[in-house]
Order: sequence, then structure tokens, then C-alpha cells
Amino acid sequence: MTYFQRETRELVNLDSCELIRSQFGLASDYWASVALDYFAEVAEQLLPSAEPNEKFFRLLLAVLESLRPEGDSEAGKAGRVWRAVTYFSLWAVRLSGWLPELHACLGCGTVLDDPEMESIGERAFFGRGRAGLSCEHCSRLPGSGSRWELSAASRMTAAEMLQRPVAQLSRTNWDQATAADLRRFLVQQIEAHAERRLVTAPLLDASTIAP
Ligand SMILES: [Zn+2]
Repeated sequence: MTYFQRETRELVNLDSCELIRSQFGLASDYWASVALDYFAEVAEQLLPSAEPNEKFFRLLLAVLESLRPEGDSEAGKAGRVWRAVTYFSLWAVRLSGWLPELHACLGCGTVLDDPEMESIGERAFFGRGRAGLSCEHCSRLPGSGSRWELSAASRMTAAEMLQRPVAQLSRTNWDQATAADLRRFLVQQIEAHAERRLVTAPLLDASTIAP
């Protein structure tokens, strides 16, 4: 995409735009099209304008590629959407520099799990307005507000996502409930930094709509 911008104007003149790969094929699938809207909204909120971001661009390409149908079932198609949305959310927050420490309590520093041991020790909680995870004790302190638990399985998933490409994750049978708590946590982090609610997030939230 090339464009021309006058210093005194807010709007740019679009000179040309080259379509690398069309995503129109995905638009006929409901969940995939919701995911595309979500990617676009998150990218718009997190990326500064007029600043190329190679890593973010490659993340988008990877998750879009991971959505491509491979001749499988409806469940398989939907499963790829949940995997892609979760992976994208985690890495979008990470690349923006806002991914908090996931192995320790933000309040008291208690180690929640040891990534080296691949074991989950303490339960972990999150809530709006908190920049990271809390241990059970800190999550109950006065003024902490609503809390949600980030399950051990979702924390393991997050750890794996930070190590592997989206197409190489060990879990393959995803559905809307898979890592829904992790997506909620990440959406809250995105919304806190964007200072507004995401319009597309409720469409993906299992608790607000029937699948
Ligand atoms: Zn604590």
C-alpha cells in the first residue's frame, strides 16, 4: 500500500494498494469473519498510526494462514478460529509490550508456577484494572473488584503459545470454551491500554451469546 500525506492534512491520498492474498474466502464462514473483524479492531487500537510494524504484520499473516480451510469439518473450521483468536490476542499484547509476568502474583510476588518445571502451583486470578495475575489471597483483598480464574490449562496454553508457531500447537481440538478465560484476560488487557471497550470482543465471548 502506498500513500501520500500532506503535513497539514489528517487524511492521506491512497495511491495504490496491492492485495497480497485475499481473505474473501473466509468471509463466508461466520466465525472466521468475526475473527477478521476482531483482528482489524485490535490492530487499529494497538498500533500507532503511520508506523510500519514488521512483527505485527507477520503475526497477522500467520494467524490468517492458520485459518485457511484444509477440507475438514465445521467443528475443525471453528476450532481453528478459536486457536487463531487466542494466539493473536496473546501475541498482540506481547508485541505491544504489555504482556504481564504470568508466573508470579502482581501483588505479593508469590510464584504461581515454575515454567521450568512445567507444573502449575498456585491458582491465578485476574480482573479489570489489574495489570497482571494475582494469587488467591491478593485477589480477595478489599477493592479488588470482580475476579476470574485463569485456569491451569490456559496458563499452560499461553506458555506454549509464546514458544511455538500457531500451526504447531499441541492442542488441535479447540472449541469456543477452550482458553476462553485466557481470551477474557487478554481482551481486558487490550481494553485497559486502548482505554475503550472492543466492539468485536463480545461477539467472541462465549458467555454473551449462544454458540
Ligand atoms: Zn499475591
